[in-house]
Amino acid sequence: MNDPRLPRTGQCKWAEGTGGNYVFPCKNRVEPGVSYCAEHHALVYISPEERRRHREHRQQQIAAPARAAA
Ligand SMILES: [Zn+2]
Repeated sequence: MNDPRLPRTGQCKWAEGTGGNYVFPCKNRVEPGVSYCAEHHALVYISPEERRRHREHRQQQIAAPARAAA
């Protein structure tokens, strides 16, 4: 249950690594319910793959300004 590979509660969940061998190098604290610190949150949301993956989970929460799809 207390998997040392997982980030602590209140810690940024930014992960680095491949093949299931992840580490969580970011020690920035985050608010409860927030996954990433501001720095990594920005990185996540500029990555198309990450953005797509997160949008599936967060589309109910996120309130991004919708650009007009001309
Ligand atoms: Zn971070």
